[in-house]
Amino acid sequence: MRVPLLLVAAAGLAVWAVHSGRITFPPQWNPWAPLDVAAPPDWLTRYKLERTVADPALCRVALQGTALAHTEVEDNPTEDGCGWSDAVRVNDPRFAPSFTLTCSAALSLALWERHALQPAAQRLFGEPVARVEHVGSYACRNVRGTAGEGQRRSQHALANAFDVVGFRLQSGARVSVLRDWPGEGPQAAFLHEVSEGACRFFKGALGPDYNAAHRDHFHLDRGPYRICR
Ligand SMILES: [Zn+2]
Repeated sequence: MRVPLLLVAAAGLAVWAVHSGRITFPPQWNPWAPLDVAAPPDWLTRYKLERTVADPALCRVALQGTALAHTEVEDNPTEDGCGWSDAVRVNDPRFAPSFTLTCSAALSLALWERHALQPAAQRLFGEPVARVEHVGSYACRNVRGTAGEGQRRSQHALANAFDVVGFRLQSGARVSVLRDWPGEGPQAAFLHEVSEGACRFFKGALGPDYNAAHRDHFHLDRGPYRICR
């Protein structure tokens, strides 16, 4: 009995020593360090992101550290499964027109844009994405295109989801989810790469491979279910 007890005590002491700051790690090795939105993502980013979005105050601070232009919005009390809380108005020219989105989804969006979207565009096209084309976020409605689940509220009903239909590059060239997803060229490669990239920062990331209702857009959300297709 004594050895397991000693082990438990040693493990507890180690956790206490790290948590209390008596032992310090470089920020990238410390799971309790604040999320650094500019740092290249690593194996701890997901954990830090989940911890950050679980706390509205931490989320606000992290979002302010991103390049995503936004302003505060009042809570819109939830009724019949619709409404929002802890949301912001994203009024960034790269995501125009403006829309309301929960802080957690907005933080995921900013991380995705910085660490997945722009690097993929630079690598495949040699230029940045100038505009993310979307069909908005908030809509008081149920989930579409999922037979048998007709009465479940969509994450859009909580301003917790965002639908992307395409991308406008700096040169003016356009990449369309509907037109280019099934193709073979760099546009298709770009779409598949950024779709996978979305899985790293959002909870739900659905696209044309999920079902026919998503053939023309990426659905990105911060809902309760981890689903990535
Ligand atoms: Zn959607």
